[in-house]
Amino acid sequence: MSKILVVGGAGYIGSHMVKRLGQADCEITVLDNLSGGHRDAVLTGDFVLGDIADTQLLQGLFKRKSFDAVMHFASFIQVGESIQEPGKYYRNNVSNTLNLLEVMRDSGVDKFIFSSTAATFGEPRYSPIDEEHPQIPINPYGRTKLMVEQALQDYDLAYGLKSVCLRYFNAAGADPDGQLGERHDPETHLIPLVLMAASGRRPHISVFGRDYDTPDGTCIRDYIHITDLCEAHWLSLQSLLSGNPSQSYNLGNGNGFSVQEVIDAARRVTGKIIKVVDAPRRHGDPATLVADARLAKEKLGWAPKYADLETIIEHAWKFESR
Ligand code: UDP
Repeated sequence: MSKILVVGGAGYIGSHMVKRLGQADCEITVLDNLSGGHRDAVLTGDFVLGDIADTQLLQGLFKRKSFDAVMHFASFIQVGESIQEPGKYYRNNVSNTLNLLEVMRDSGVDKFIFSSTAATFGEPRYSPIDEEHPQIPINPYGRTKLMVEQALQDYDLAYGLKSVCLRYFNAAGADPDGQLGERHDPETHLIPLVLMAASGRRPHISVFGRDYDTPDGTCIRDYIHITDLCEAHWLSLQSLLSGNPSQSYNLGNGNGFSVQEVIDAARRVTGKIIKVVDAPRRHGDPATLVADARLAKEKLGWAPKYADLETIIEHAWKFESR
């Protein structure tokens, strides 16, 4: 039975991952400071309230328990906020992550799964984006994630710490059983916001820009179901535990949908009226971000189960209308 520490296991992606690990009978410990996560989203495992900035707490935890691997989901994720408050991002996403890696090193834990992002690529030079695409992030958020990716390469060379960096495109949807979903506060992501407009929790959805170089003028993104994302983490974990080398993977479905197409799909799925208001472009949004995830399919045997946009929205709607 694998012993896994899930840092940030009370958040959107972390909580779905904890459920997946529980189904595989892993021995799970969740460490979360609940700054963005929810205690009731941790469906199984031991819960430890705490922050990865707290070296003493980490040292105590790693002394008390043994871990085969660490999965790290605890980071700040808002591009706009990262531009306004870069210190918050560099401190948490970089410095605190290094803190965690140092305690892992002291304790001899040498397997790490890292939540990275398409934002490490910056403005796309070609599409779909594969792992060879240059990484030139255009905002502090993307830079913090790239810095950790680079640190992980160095930690592997120097200390033999093996890692998998998973670069998410747009994580979306919810647990198909309806137990878990997306609960950010403030919510900034398109699909939950569209569904809040459908359920009446918000008056409308703002479309950030209709003058992009795309067929309908709105931004195109690659939405990947949270369950499929977690499956890629599970396979990455198995790969590391079987002794495979460090690797980075881009995770998406390889299909782009525009903001307008997402709204239209949400109207079909919910049958509700969704009021749309046109708004200016959001700073730092590339027109199109689509993943080439062939490497994950080839090397990990990953096969997304819920690639269909309407299914992704349907599961998110089940959670929104709970
Ligand atoms: N978006 C939008 N209105 C919103 C929120 C997002 O038009 O209220 C757009 C955003 O500009 C981007 C896409 O929806 O083109 C996806 O944004 P999200 O914040 O969900 O994810 P990101 O692509 O930033 O990771």
